[in-house]
Amino acid sequence: MTSGVDVSNLSDGGRIPASAGLSIVVPAFNEGAGLEPLHARLCNLAATLKQRYGLTCEVVYVDDGSTDTTLSVARNLAANALDVQVVSLSRNFGKEAALMAGLDHARRGAVLFMDGDGQHAPELVEKLVGHWIDDGYDVVYTAKAHRDNESFLRRLSVRTFYSLINWGSRQKIPEDAGDFRLLSPRAAAALRQLPERNRFFKGLASWIGFRQIRVDYEPEARAHGVTTFNISRLLGLSIEGLTSFSVAPLRVASLLGLLLAFVAFLFGLSILWETVVSGKSVPGYPSLVVGLMTIGGVQLIMIGVMGEYIGKILSEIKARPIYFVAEHSVKTAETAVAKTPQTVAE
Ligand code: UDP
Ligand code: MG
Repeated sequence: MTSGVDVSNLSDGGRIPASAGLSIVVPAFNEGAGLEPLHARLCNLAATLKQRYGLTCEVVYVDDGSTDTTLSVARNLAANALDVQVVSLSRNFGKEAALMAGLDHARRGAVLFMDGDGQHAPELVEKLVGHWIDDGYDVVYTAKAHRDNESFLRRLSVRTFYSLINWGSRQKIPEDAGDFRLLSPRAAAALRQLPERNRFFKGLASWIGFRQIRVDYEPEARAHGVTTFNISRLLGLSIEGLTSFSVAPLRVASLLGLLLAFVAFLFGLSILWETVVSGKSVPGYPSLVVGLMTIGGVQLIMIGVMGEYIGKILSEIKARPIYFVAEHSVKTAETAVAKTPQTVAE
């Protein structure tokens, strides 16, 4: 067994292999209200791509344990211009797991990931596909064009997060990049090879390398409902990202330790100086308590940081599946055109 993986036979410099096509993966958690309009837009997109590039498309809707009508709506979507797969997970596993389930079920060559809430405009996909087919890029990722409408605090947190995660790393994760991205067949194959259970998709998609290009875009307003990523979930994702991609937090621990030791050394010198030169005896109670509390606090934080990594190791060792599929159906466009859609249930 070699220690690397050769995916070069899956595409060459941007020319589409004969068997290729495009799988569009759409994770959906309680998106029942917006799925039909999105599907109509995707059908138009598939027709355009077929005409322009001769690309055959399929869409993979991953129902991530929704509690609304998402699954029943998805089951009834017609395979008009593209094949429709519906993968329903046994419970809510989270967006990262849903993306993985979509990637695993994608049957075409290239893979495109887009949200099911209408924020990622299908109309932009043509441009992404152009970068892949015409310009030969393997990873075409979108990024927010600007963050003008976000608060200063949020922008500062994002900045800090990316500088920490990219600190000393060879392959930088682009700032502001989103999950809306296209992977060529070989890039998708590479992403499938990564075995970890704790996944930070944006990071992994950038870590695999190949020729990557950024496309700026303005996310649309959500078609309905509200975002599921509130502050605490975003914080969770950030910790996930940081701990799976960098040892920066552990390095901070060492640096902080060094800094504290240095300050303590200077402080000791100053006490010595005062005693020797002025003969003053130092009462020292407040400085002692502050010093103790600082050291105690920093140590607790660092134990927490190490706990994060140990927790990660534990979950990798347990090696549980990332998701369970409760129901899976495939409708092919050919059968839908000829007669009523045929559903194959597993
Ligand atoms: N999503 C999912 N599982 C979850 C949470 C979200 O599959 O547990 C999907 C959701 O349906 C949507 C996408 O992930 O298609 C992005 O979610 P959301 O719009 O809530 O996040 P935001 O756009 O604010 O980042
Ligand atoms: Mg959204």
